[in-house]
Amino acid sequence: MKMNEKQNIEIIEKLKKTYPDAKCSLDFTTPFEMLIAVILSAQCTDERVNKTTPAIFAKYNTPEDFANMDLSLLESLIHPCGFYRNKAKNIQATSKILVEKYHSQVPNTMEELMSLPGVGRKTANVVMLEAFNNPQGVAVDTHCKRIANRIGFSKQKEPEKIEQDILKAFPKKYYYVLNHVLIWHGRNICTARNPKCTTCPISNYCQEYQKTSKA
Ligand code: SF4
Repeated sequence: MKMNEKQNIEIIEKLKKTYPDAKCSLDFTTPFEMLIAVILSAQCTDERVNKTTPAIFAKYNTPEDFANMDLSLLESLIHPCGFYRNKAKNIQATSKILVEKYHSQVPNTMEELMSLPGVGRKTANVVMLEAFNNPQGVAVDTHCKRIANRIGFSKQKEPEKIEQDILKAFPKKYYYVLNHVLIWHGRNICTARNPKCTTCPISNYCQEYQKTSKA
């Protein structure tokens, strides 16, 4: 079964109806807080990041604060989010660059964001979407990757190639909703183990399901 754009859009419309409240689950109030929260969310749950950041942001929430902070204090503040040494190093280096090069503002292009330490394409995509409401692509996390492969949007394994396949499959106006509904579908129905295929609203379109249900 080869999917076309019309079918792809039908899939996303069904997921939109299934998850009308789908949105970013990280808490933030400024682009800088968003950037820090996304860096912290690598290899960590959004829930844990949301439990950790309020106490930090209440006291420190500007690039200057993080650039001038003692690195060991930063490490202890973000410790619950895991990989704290590496994340602290990247957050401090990024904060220094924001102060020195960007007048303490978070830049709003993919290229500039991806030049910051600890900011890869996925993080840059999330910041462009959530902080600037200007999605440039799709942030391919573990849920998005699994679903793209199962539904048949992409056969690729590398996130960047999967993203390119997804972007080719949809008009740009769907980038915003894609970012949210694919992740929510992965968290709620198309889970890594025991996906709930019999109640899945898009099983008719799903290549994986069609293959296994015929086997
Ligand atoms: S049918 Fe199953 S595998 Fe396919 S998208 Fe739905 S839950 Fe995932």
